[in-house]
Amino acid sequence: MWNDPIETWGPETASSMMLVILTLMIFISGRLYYTRRKKGYLSMTVSLILMLAHNLLRLYWQASGQLQGMSGFADDLLQVVTFVLINLGVYQLYNPTRRRHYLYFYGLIAVALGISAFHFYPPSGGSPEQAALLADLPLELYIFVLIFLCAYIITPLIGQQGKFQAMMTLYFARQTAHMVNLYLFQGEQKWLMLAEWFIPVIYATILFFLLFDRVVELMQAIYQSSITDGLTKVYNRKYFDKRVSQYIRLNLNVSVLFSDIDNFKKLNDTKGHHMGDEMLKQVASIMRQEADESGIVGRYGGEELVILLTDPDVKPAELAERIRKRIEEETIVTVSMGFSTYKKGLTGDKLIKQADEAMYKAKTTGKNKVVKFSA
Ligand code: GH3
Ligand code: MG
Ligand code: MG
Repeated sequence: MWNDPIETWGPETASSMMLVILTLMIFISGRLYYTRRKKGYLSMTVSLILMLAHNLLRLYWQASGQLQGMSGFADDLLQVVTFVLINLGVYQLYNPTRRRHYLYFYGLIAVALGISAFHFYPPSGGSPEQAALLADLPLELYIFVLIFLCAYIITPLIGQQGKFQAMMTLYFARQTAHMVNLYLFQGEQKWLMLAEWFIPVIYATILFFLLFDRVVELMQAIYQSSITDGLTKVYNRKYFDKRVSQYIRLNLNVSVLFSDIDNFKKLNDTKGHHMGDEMLKQVASIMRQEADESGIVGRYGGEELVILLTDPDVKPAELAERIRKRIEEETIVTVSMGFSTYKKGLTGDKLIKQADEAMYKAKTTGKNKVVKFSA
């Protein structure tokens, strides 16, 4: 067993690589679980630890030449369990878990345990070696069923589908190499043996990137939701204020536009809150379409939307009038708007206040109009 350098070099190198990749992943998913306390991250962490343990066990079995018989059987069984758990983990990265879902995944493991019974009650006839090989055949074949089942069911339910499908394809390739080697070459084919050891390394690498990208995505989503308003999807007041101050500190020529929906209370009272929300969303959407290229849109209060105009080539009066007109034409509400342009010595708060005052003037002089701030 140990005479051929490939047989030591291959498994040892592949195992060292796995050790690094899996340790990094355990660190990432463990940390994710520690900070977010979501069950999904726990499944991922547990399955990765199991995968690592399995890998070390395999190396030990391989080194001591026992990767057949009982160890071969345990190897297959561990493989099924880690495969199912990893898939559960990937699924949970993208979906809230219900008890029912655990049942499905654990059901797959239970079926594997049921099939394992063949190992202890092999079909009679043939030589003992043949009987031993046949005894594990159902479990080996079950792995193929699992691969297809997971590829078919999980792929549409998650993001990064390309990566996941590549993982399933690799798993299929590994299992094929394993079975061809075991059943046609009595496990003696070196190149197939190398494939058995190295395909999982590529599989784990792709899983690493899948996990890593998902973590980045989650972090971005958390940050995004901390600076935006859930209903209108424009920036919230805190973020808007911060950006205004930033621009003013740099002494840049900016303007603030302040808008308030007219008679919004009446709309809520007559058509319901849901309609009110819809209008708010529509108004915000029009503002974003008009101002996203030239500035920042925010929600300042209930039905008060604001714009920080940062493009010096866009005239605030023209932008405001364009928005006012579109809202009048496209929605069932109107807005009153005021704006003010930065002058040396103003603070961010002051500038916003001036725009608010101009808006108030628009309200008291008939609504549905644009007023420029004047001292
Ligand atoms: P004016 O023309 O003077 O602005 O009259 P108004 O009724 O719009 O002004 P007012 O400030 O008295 O009322 C604003 C209303 O906006 C009060 C509140 O019920 C409603 N409002 C605030 N936030 C929301 C929201 O998120 N959704 C809905 N549907 N209504 C909201
Ligand atoms: Mg109002
Ligand atoms: Mg208001």
